Amino acid sequence: MTQIAFIGLGHMGLPMARNLLNAGFALKVFDLVPAAVEELAKEGAQAASSAADAVQGADVVISMLPASRHVEALYLGDAGLLGKLAPGSLVLECSTIAPESARKVHRAAAERGLEMLDAPVSGGTAGAAAGTLTFMIGGQASTLEKARPIFAAMGKNIFHAGPDGAGQVAKVCNNQVLAVQMIATAEAMALGVANGLEPAVLAEIMRQSSGGNWTLEKYNPWPGVMENAPASKGYSGGFMAELMAKDLGLAQEAAQVTASSTPMGALALQIYRLLLKQGKGKQDFSVVQQLFVSE
Ligand code: NAD
Repeated sequence: MTQIAFIGLGHMGLPMARNLLNAGFALKVFDLVPAAVEELAKEGAQAASSAADAVQGADVVISMLPASRHVEALYLGDAGLLGKLAPGSLVLECSTIAPESARKVHRAAAERGLEMLDAPVSGGTAGAAAGTLTFMIGGQASTLEKARPIFAAMGKNIFHAGPDGAGQVAKVCNNQVLAVQMIATAEAMALGVANGLEPAVLAEIMRQSSGGNWTLEKYNPWPGVMENAPASKGYSGGFMAELMAKDLGLAQEAAQVTASSTPMGALALQIYRLLLKQGKGKQDFSVVQQLFVSE
């Protein structure tokens, strides 16, 4: 039976781990926040007291951490998890991190006879809860085939993006588009409402017209337009603005390396940095709406 160590039980990791449990996988879980570990322990997971404890006896490790530095600290170095895994184990790294950081962990894993995939996700907290995430995977196709049943328990679309790091490249490209769409939608919502339109009416017209996009379909930033969107819950839950700023920074780094021209991504990053300066970094990224309305 596959024994999975799951590390990082935040907005995304917790519902992903829950879906693995529900699919019948044996799970040992760890997070720095004990409450998250306790919650899953009540549902049948084994609680670990540390990341090293979580990987004891595991043949698969899944990590879902905030950023590159957390992932590198978890896996690399003398105390890192890679040194604690049996050869042949699988490392499925699902956080959104720098492609170069992912490649660093890939190289260290290969040196120890471990197989690794970078496997960032899209679909938000709702997709994580529903088990309908999209996985964008970098690494060897043969490793992906071994891991496919695990991904299938958490997601619907499983893409092989290319070699080591390619999943992360696909992810930052996707999130750059998402950030730009969110800002454009928020700005148009504010413009329409300021000129007398009902927010829900405007949202529906644009959704069904050529301005339609994912944020209008699933995640409208105007409070009250979509009952279950973070905007209707005080911009809580969802995808934190500080994580979006991180992803936009990663896109700019990738653009720098290849001298790619990404003016929309650059502007989106500046706008999200403004939000962070306003102390809104922990709120959902649709809180960008508030930049366009007078308080
Ligand atoms: P989060 O901050 O809610 O969760 C991260 C968790 O990792 C926290 O619970 C934290 O305590 C834990 N953690 C940090 N360092 C740890 C360590 N050393 N050991 C154990 N646990 C540790 O973030 P999230 O929203 O779940 O996002 C996780 C990743 O997924 C990020 O890279 C993010 O960019 C990406 N992502 C998020 C969303 C979303 O909608 N929230 C969507 C797609 C991708």
